[in-house]
Amino acid sequence: MYDPRIEIVEGDITKLAVDAIVNAANASLLGGGGVDGAIHRAAGPELLEECRKLGGCPVGEARLTKGYRLPARYVIHAVGPIWQGGNNNEDALLASAYRSSLELAVQHGVRSIAFPAISTGAYGFPMERAIPIALDTVQTFLERDQTLQRVIMVCFGRAAYELYLHFYNQRT
Ligand code: ADP
Repeated sequence: MYDPRIEIVEGDITKLAVDAIVNAANASLLGGGGVDGAIHRAAGPELLEECRKLGGCPVGEARLTKGYRLPARYVIHAVGPIWQGGNNNEDALLASAYRSSLELAVQHGVRSIAFPAISTGAYGFPMERAIPIALDTVQTFLERDQTLQRVIMVCFGRAAYELYLHFYNQRT
């Protein structure tokens, strides 16, 4: 069983009223398409202004900003790896992006956090390989953490939701 603090939800991450939403950002932190574009549109131009001051972020790490016009208080910008076939440290870098986000969240007193499926869009990481890494990384983190109360894995679309649930229910 995964920790009951982990929830699988279908929807649009920009709508969630949680303490922090995670952005699947690129290393420049200057915005992009997909969930990154949606977050910047919903947060307003002040988000990009704050991001500019951060000077980028290495793959596998994360940076925190305010959420501006979002219902979420913070945005944690995590940089996942670009899929290059699977033998270029992609798994470890993806796990590191999740772990870094969780560490930053705890440092800022975040109790509820929502993740998109990092790297599974434009970055091409296969969903069926990314989901177990995401779930196991969050699970391992929660085993040593009592701050976080809710970790929401946000699935964009029915297919992603069903795949997530499949892996979530597999762990007995
Ligand atoms: P990456 O460059 O890390 O692959 P993408 O934004 O292209 O980032 O995709 C990451 C995941 O986010 C994909 O699974 C995509 O379906 C999903 N996604 C896109 N828009 C949203 C949204 N508004 N809310 C939640 N997830 C989203």
